Amino acid sequence: MDNNHSLFTKAQQFIPGGVNSPVRAFKGVGGEPLFIATAKGPHMYDVNGKAYIDYIGSWGPMIAGHSNEEVLEAVHQAVDRGLSFGAPAEAEVTLAEQICQMIPSIDMVRMVNSGTEATMSAIRLARGFTGRDKIIKFEGCYHGHADSFLVKAGSGVLTLGIPGSPGVPKAVADLTLTVPFNDLEALTEVMSAVGDEVAAIIVEPITGNMNMIEPAAGYLQGMRDLCDQHSSVLIFDEVMTGFRVARGGAQEVYDVKPDLTTFGKVIGGGLPVGAFGGRHDIMSYIAPSGPVYQAGTLSGNPLAMAAGSAMMKIVSRDGFYEHLSQQTGKLVNGLQAVADEAGVPFSTCHKGGMFGMYFRDQKAAGFADLAECDEDHFKRFFHAMLVHGVYLAPSAYEAGFVSSKHNDDIIEQTLIAAKTAIRA
Ligand SMILES: *Cc1c(COP(=O)(O)O)cnc(C)c1O
Repeated sequence: MDNNHSLFTKAQQFIPGGVNSPVRAFKGVGGEPLFIATAKGPHMYDVNGKAYIDYIGSWGPMIAGHSNEEVLEAVHQAVDRGLSFGAPAEAEVTLAEQICQMIPSIDMVRMVNSGTEATMSAIRLARGFTGRDKIIKFEGCYHGHADSFLVKAGSGVLTLGIPGSPGVPKAVADLTLTVPFNDLEALTEVMSAVGDEVAAIIVEPITGNMNMIEPAAGYLQGMRDLCDQHSSVLIFDEVMTGFRVARGGAQEVYDVKPDLTTFGKVIGGGLPVGAFGGRHDIMSYIAPSGPVYQAGTLSGNPLAMAAGSAMMKIVSRDGFYEHLSQQTGKLVNGLQAVADEAGVPFSTCHKGGMFGMYFRDQKAAGFADLAECDEDHFKRFFHAMLVHGVYLAPSAYEAGFVSSKHNDDIIEQTLIAAKTAIRA
């Protein structure tokens, strides 16, 4: 009996679309999503008992492999002390201190329950701090599902944003200006026109929600300079790249200090955690030390803090990111060789434990380039890899993730599968 199919049928009866987050639904590739029963190390096992080498890692958090012993042990111990107190606990201070020590731009940090909450709160804080309403985001960047971020670009850079989803008020979308990623000239033009009304520029310093796209040389520094000129707050949304591309995130890789940074994914070690942090003077504007309101019943939850802290300990060890980068490099170089041998136009990029792959002969520099990728080939490749027990993100617009448990043998098995799958 196909347990997966019967579960998905039932799920669709009781849950809209059968899933609790749309990216899981396989809409981008067709077919039915896999229901997962257990996961360990680099593997996930579906409800029919089939094993998969996992390159999604719960969309980022599982950087030290699934069911990591140290994280599980920390959570087990926390469970025995109590699930939630609604009062301060030491575990919150421990994780906050770890983050401030790992990321030099962060003086203070506030815990929340998701990446969406982190970006939403960071924007409110930037608005409160500057007394301005407008924000700038970039085409193809994802910052969670708050109203301000679900905005499409208007036809010209200075036209107002259009709601990107029913339910987002026009009045809110009007305050979000959208500029193409990696185009410093376009950003400079917008900032020259309205910079003094801009509360914040928010960016994924390496994008991971339109495949993976690296910033052009000097782009992030240019953004930093524009924010300084206009006293706007620079927010790096490192929900994906934080503790993923390097110990200190993308800001360490490119050596640019944002004013605020948002986190999620890895920071919770697999439990629901987000955080935003940064400059002392800005963070002091948050209640109760300042006037900008932000709160959460389960924020800083002791289980989540224990998991996050254990994860921060693991990634802080010497050589963690060197090893991770090496394994990711082996994977993408191997995939490139497989594609080259089959004569398939293909290119890749990678940083730390994050990678992108494009079915075209050059890397993408911006959102528009992605339209030139052979999406049908990606879909065939995705499904063929799945049959061979390799679980890639079910969309050509997602980055991929490698964990420290993806050893040489696992990478080799992946490349063997790819040799057949690339001809699908
Ligand atoms: C995943 C993601 C978010 C949203 O985080 P959630 O925990 O899903 O709410 C925000 N920004 C970026 C860059 C992300 O990748």
